[in-house]
Amino acid sequence: MTAAPDYSATFAELKATFESERTMDIGWRSAQLAALERMMLECEREFTNALKDDLGKHAQEAWSTEIATVAGDAAYCRRKLKKWTKRRKVRTPMVGQPGKSWLQPEPLGVVLIIGAWNYPLQLTLDGAVAAIAAGNCAVLKPSELAPGVSAAIARRVPEYLDGDCIRVVEGAVPETTALLELPWDHILYTGGGNVGRIVMTAAAKHLTPVTLELGGKSPCIVMPDADLETAARRIAWGKFTNAGQTCIAPDYLLVDADTEKRLVPLLQQAVTAMFGDDPEQSDSYGRIVNDRHFDRVSGFLDSGEAAIGGRTNPATHYIAPTVLTGVRPDSPVMQEEIFGPVLPVVRAGGLEEAIRFVRAGDKPLAAYLFTNDRAKEARFLDKVSCGNVCINDTMMFMTVHELPFGGVGPSGMGNYSGEYGFRTFSHMKPVMRRGWWPDLDLRYAPFTDKKFKRLRKLR
Ligand code: NAD
Repeated sequence: MTAAPDYSATFAELKATFESERTMDIGWRSAQLAALERMMLECEREFTNALKDDLGKHAQEAWSTEIATVAGDAAYCRRKLKKWTKRRKVRTPMVGQPGKSWLQPEPLGVVLIIGAWNYPLQLTLDGAVAAIAAGNCAVLKPSELAPGVSAAIARRVPEYLDGDCIRVVEGAVPETTALLELPWDHILYTGGGNVGRIVMTAAAKHLTPVTLELGGKSPCIVMPDADLETAARRIAWGKFTNAGQTCIAPDYLLVDADTEKRLVPLLQQAVTAMFGDDPEQSDSYGRIVNDRHFDRVSGFLDSGEAAIGGRTNPATHYIAPTVLTGVRPDSPVMQEEIFGPVLPVVRAGGLEEAIRFVRAGDKPLAAYLFTNDRAKEARFLDKVSCGNVCINDTMMFMTVHELPFGGVGPSGMGNYSGEYGFRTFSHMKPVMRRGWWPDLDLRYAPFTDKKFKRLRKLR
């Protein structure tokens, strides 16, 4: 029997480095972010090959959704570091005068980042960008379900980053379980809600705060007034990128009968334009990560009529870009997040019915509405609670550095990206400095009517 892994020595070493104040230095943070950016660019080929092996990702998709994303985030955070780490003055009210007040960001300490397999570079290293920018030491635990990328991260991170501060631990459940026993100062976890519960339970033992980046069924409502051709292209892109294994992919469509009739052929056109007549032959189309997910997603194909696609190849984990019509809301494909290239079309008679449908389920990670009608847009925004929204496109909010990314309710808690990531890994310490004089005696006993009257005026 092999002994259970124990990472307490690693944790203690990182704690010691943190205590040495090395990571407090803005120069250190800036150099680490520059090194991380360099790592993405110099190791592009190695990362691209690993993504191809693990997920069948095309080099262009690997570049735009993983390599360039992490490099761009590191560069953005580096540019903003000086501003973010400054004290942020706030107003001191009359009763606090003479005095000055501010928020002073401080790093949390030693943090754990548990990545997911579907964007295995981005979901591990973007967390590292935020943790470094905020001045923390970190352990990165890439997903074992993308073994090629996990190995590449484990190989390259020690070459480029300061090993006294940033460590990589590879492994699966036993390793993650052992990591979760330690008293981290923060945990960023990306993955499914079931493991999210395990993470949060383990964190509770140490009162460790958590950021949980989870998933859910992200709805996509298409109104009849939308530009359906462009909508079809953008929906097909959002759904079939990475073979549908994207946490913010549109999970299902909500449309009325007439819109469905017009939209489905346009979706077919978009799929053919992107992947040809036989997507299995296209090197632009990915594969399902493993047998378990292949079987799970294939199982959804019986939930409706395959108006588009429907073919599978177990030997290569291929599932064709598929659109299912005639899907009943109580069918299996509508009971859990699909996380694969199957797009069910569910009928809804209008916006209100669609909104009622969405509100009857868990709060999703993302929600999409296609319409030109600003009143409908406003109604949708007022009524649909979810992590992030994109109107008239899918997933593109991920390109906006100044928008946070994260779920709400069962789709997650907390967020990161840009300054929000910096804040996630910082304590924004509230500070007040009092002047010495005058030291008004109003608050001090003995209390008198006169003091009370003057005090009441000081609001
Ligand atoms: P998962 O939840 O199985 O695994 C994620 C991580 O948890 C891995 O690193 C794994 O080693 C670890 N893990 C797995 N089982 C564990 C256990 N029993 N104890 C401790 N650690 C364990 O990943 P998944 O469910 O296959 O991922 C898909 C889900 O992740 C989808 O729901 C998707 O929406 C979500 N997701 C969310 C985001 C986001 O940013 N919000 C991004 C990608 C994926």
